Amino acid sequence: MAPLILDGKKTQRDISEGMRHFVNDHVKKGFVNPCLAIVQVGDDKASDSYIRNKKKFGESIGVQVLHIHLPKDISEAEVLTEIKSLNTDESVHGIILQLPLPRDLNKELLIEAIHHSKDVDGLTSKNVKGLWVGSDKSLVPATSRGILTLLKHYNIDVRGKKVVVIGRSALVGKPTAMLMLKENATVSICHSETPNIETYTLDADIIISAVGRPRFITSYHVRPGQIVIDVGITIDTMDKVCKGDVDFAEVAPIVKAISPVPGGVGPMTVLSLFQNLLDVYTKKVIQL
Ligand code: NAP
Repeated sequence: MAPLILDGKKTQRDISEGMRHFVNDHVKKGFVNPCLAIVQVGDDKASDSYIRNKKKFGESIGVQVLHIHLPKDISEAEVLTEIKSLNTDESVHGIILQLPLPRDLNKELLIEAIHHSKDVDGLTSKNVKGLWVGSDKSLVPATSRGILTLLKHYNIDVRGKKVVVIGRSALVGKPTAMLMLKENATVSICHSETPNIETYTLDADIIISAVGRPRFITSYHVRPGQIVIDVGITIDTMDKVCKGDVDFAEVAPIVKAISPVPGGVGPMTVLSLFQNLLDVYTKKVIQL
């Protein structure tokens, strides 16, 4: 039987419609438009395209997106000054520091400078702690929230399910595992030192792969009835194709549901970044 395709593009369209109406209603009532500031330092090509996507999506739902593009040789102190000024600017509701940064800048220090109440990427220590302790008041990294939103949109309940997350980065793997735990899943985390990963994947109800290696998950790792979420993005420089971690052609005929790449988690990440922003805008995320 053909698997259920967990279509991130369609889900983004379905949910963003409500977000657009929400913003529109607020603006009609005299509120300012929500505003996201994206701070980019230097000229990373992939960042340019991610920022274009965020700007296009944000503006489609009525969010003002400020792209603050700083030169690659700017000092750390000057970036800090920029972030601090955005922190105190009441017309700015969310701030993201586009990664990667030029090597000589201290990523942790600059992320930490973002006020946690505007940290819509959910990366400051207060928001990380909030997710760790299971608080509803913290901002969750957009990819993790996007994965959960995608599952919920297809009525897939993670409560009581065995979820394996492959990858343990601070940006994707760890927050996704913590969010699944908060949603009452039983969670395993695999990484590059985990032997026999197939023993974990075959045992799981839901497999979330965030590794960044094409064909990492093949028919060898899956069985019928499972849900597979592919977070990986690898751009093939030869043919410019975007590939996930999962061998879709091999895995899709076996499993119950699968998210494609492209068109799965990617659009959900953009959507959830703006869900975070609107939460801040409506003050749903109260100061920790
Ligand atoms: P990352 O920081 O490079 O982390 C990759 C993780 O994969 C690490 O934890 C690493 O384990 C693990 N890993 C590497 N080789 C492995 C192996 N052979 N077996 C098991 N685990 C292995 O990358 P990331 O930032 O988490 O991103 C992961 C992927 O998701 C990338 O392809 C990225 O482009 C993509 N991504 C997609 C979205 C989206 O919106 N779709 C958003 C963000 C990221 P160790 O910790 O042991 O090294």
